[in-house]
Amino acid sequence: MKAFTPVVLISAAALAAILALSVCAQQAPNANREPGPQISVDGYTYTQAQLFQRNIGGPDEQTTQFPPHKIVGNLYYVGTASLASFLVVTPQGNILIDSTYEGNVPVIQKSVEQLGFKFSDTKILLGSHAHGDHMEGDALVKQLTGAQVMAMAEDVPALENMKPGGKSHPIDRVLHDGDEVKLGGMTLVAHLTPGHTRGCTTWTMKVRDGGKSYDVVIIGSMGVNPGVKLVNNPDVPGIADEFTRGFKVMRSLPCDVPLGSHPAMYRMQEKYAKLKQGGPNPFIDPAGYKVEMDIDEAMFHAVLKQQQKSVSGSAAPANPTP
Ligand SMILES: [Zn+2]
Repeated sequence: MKAFTPVVLISAAALAAILALSVCAQQAPNANREPGPQISVDGYTYTQAQLFQRNIGGPDEQTTQFPPHKIVGNLYYVGTASLASFLVVTPQGNILIDSTYEGNVPVIQKSVEQLGFKFSDTKILLGSHAHGDHMEGDALVKQLTGAQVMAMAEDVPALENMKPGGKSHPIDRVLHDGDEVKLGGMTLVAHLTPGHTRGCTTWTMKVRDGGKSYDVVIIGSMGVNPGVKLVNNPDVPGIADEFTRGFKVMRSLPCDVPLGSHPAMYRMQEKYAKLKQGGPNPFIDPAGYKVEMDIDEAMFHAVLKQQQKSVSGSAAPANPTP
């Protein structure tokens, strides 16, 4: 882990903003001091910081294997307690969605093998969005499996800056909104749902189980991380409009089985506990998808409103841009 570190002059505030933008599973430095606005939806109440924390979990949850399990049909969970990784199994090899942190790749491999599959059968690696807690392990997965790595065009610049241990980020196919990824009779569709990152990708697929077909939606992320500027964002001036477009897409997707890049987005732990009780498949939860979108959209509007208020309520900016 020793590396030459150039001396860079950077303010603590700028560093906090960079961290919040580059890694959604890293505790934002000021998250505890600034809870952000609070929303209540369908009996759930969160501040912005609490919703962020709900998703990322604690440091242990980010790295501890969650029992690998079948979700529906040929779709399986192989991630940690708070960072999702999904496996689509086909007769022509498998598709993995989200490598998570590089350090978690052996955990994912173990989960795949415990389910009775071979990690080396991973033919395609997809991702939810260009944050380290979801796609940092891509180079290692490719190294171990030879999988083709595919990424949304709008996330490619951020991915090219993601270089664990100096390894360059593999990208074998650049995807665009609506592109299909096909393998062994399965078709996955990449939907550009921007805001959280420029190329944040929500994956959909139809999965058959017990003679029925189910619409699966893997939420890329519609969360506004603490520290992210929705107003006067110098890097992404249109970020609020991008989120709005993202929500419009999310609302248009038919969904029987909601999943997400963080399993808390679909209350995996509650549903996994129900699995053991028998009865209907708890992962089939169209209402849960609507509630999660309501939570995310309410928080987006609350954060936007608060930031607009503080901008209009303040005097001329300290550093007016020409
Ligand atoms: Zn993220």
